[in-house]
Amino acid sequence: MSMSSSLISKVHKAKLYADDPTRVQFQDFTLTVRGDNDTHTISLNQGKWHCTCRAFRDDDICAHTMAVERLLSITIPPAYRQGEPFSSSGIHSNPLL
Ligand SMILES: [Zn+2]
Repeated sequence: MSMSSSLISKVHKAKLYADDPTRVQFQDFTLTVRGDNDTHTISLNQGKWHCTCRAFRDDDICAHTMAVERLLSITIPPAYRQGEPFSSSGIHSNPLL
């Protein structure tokens, strides 16, 4: 059975879109990060980050939200970014696009 030309055209477009991640912008999501001691639930909701860990409660940022931002990179809308990547000194050294 051969693919229809319509499906072939969709696969072709999907490849083009996936090759340009700036086309994808996460808005709201919930996911888990398996930390060294526990698995935490991280969410981005209407531009607000949240994590269930203690560090986030104290500082409004934590290694888990930072890891997610690092991973998702330019698919996080610029207005929602926390400033990752930071250097080890905490200075914002290399802004994302
Ligand atoms: Zn956390």
